[in-house]
Amino acid sequence: MARMTTVPSITLNNGVEIPQLGFGVYQIDPDETKDATLAALEVGYRHIDTAEMYGNEAGVGEAIRASGIDRSEVFVTSKLNNGFHRRDDALRAFDGTLDALGSEYVDLFLIHWPLPTIDVDYVETWKALEEIAASGRAKAIGVSNFQVPHLQRLLDETGTVPAVNQIEVHPFLVNEEVRAFGQQKGIVTEAWSPIAQGKVLDDPALTEIAERIGKSTAQVTLRWHVQRGDVIFPKSVTRKRVEENFDLFDFELTDADVAAITALDKGERTGPDPDTFDYVPS
Ligand code: NAD
Repeated sequence: MARMTTVPSITLNNGVEIPQLGFGVYQIDPDETKDATLAALEVGYRHIDTAEMYGNEAGVGEAIRASGIDRSEVFVTSKLNNGFHRRDDALRAFDGTLDALGSEYVDLFLIHWPLPTIDVDYVETWKALEEIAASGRAKAIGVSNFQVPHLQRLLDETGTVPAVNQIEVHPFLVNEEVRAFGQQKGIVTEAWSPIAQGKVLDDPALTEIAERIGKSTAQVTLRWHVQRGDVIFPKSVTRKRVEENFDLFDFELTDADVAAITALDKGERTGPDPDTFDYVPS
């Protein structure tokens, strides 16, 4: 039964442990987030990935309190929205995140997008996150959607190596260069849209493997991520799928199957290109 599953943890570069499998709440309506998150907690998830941009941090906080599970047993990530890259704005926005969550800390706080073409340098933003980490109110800090040159600048110009880089990764966008750089530098890759928002699920190679081992193509894809060592947090509001996506630890893919899935790469993004994405809410 899913509830009995033990999710492996990964140790981040500052010693903090993160459950390798979590629940993502992107595009979940703020009014539905409490119930969706509560359902995930009931199934056994102990890691929730939200963001100020998603508008649903409050629902995540409500669900954790309503679940009766101790706050310390749930790993919560949130992210700095694009309009708040200046130092003072970032510090204020972080306070807003804690207020919305109703928590004194987050486990992980990320810069959501690097926005390399706007007039605020993400190195300034990263230094604000360093201040937040020093205050103890974020147990770990990291980035999202950073490309290799963006990561390199943080390594060259600041004193903190990001704990994670949360990037788009799935069988149609393997994103190997960014993953490999992270691996070299001690930055854990978190793979967002791990099933490409459902786009990979009818792929014939995945279907062949899934039929052969008696699992769904979603489970095969999520297991591929797990065996490659990335952190994932698939999203669903359908109870059956939430359970299915949690049920990844009683089977293993062969090395040949892992390689065959990796070979499906076609460099196809579902989301924006981090080098050019410059959306800042007004
Ligand atoms: P995903 O790859 O998790 O796919 C979600 C969609 O796939 C759902 O809407 C559902 O319709 C379908 N689905 C889920 N499980 C299924 C199953 N077992 N069978 C069939 N269909 C299924 O996509 P996502 O939500 O974009 O990504 C997951 C999480 O990653 C987000 O919730 C968010 O936390 C994070 N994320 C981060 C960024 C970023 O910029 N940092 C961007 C996108 C997503």
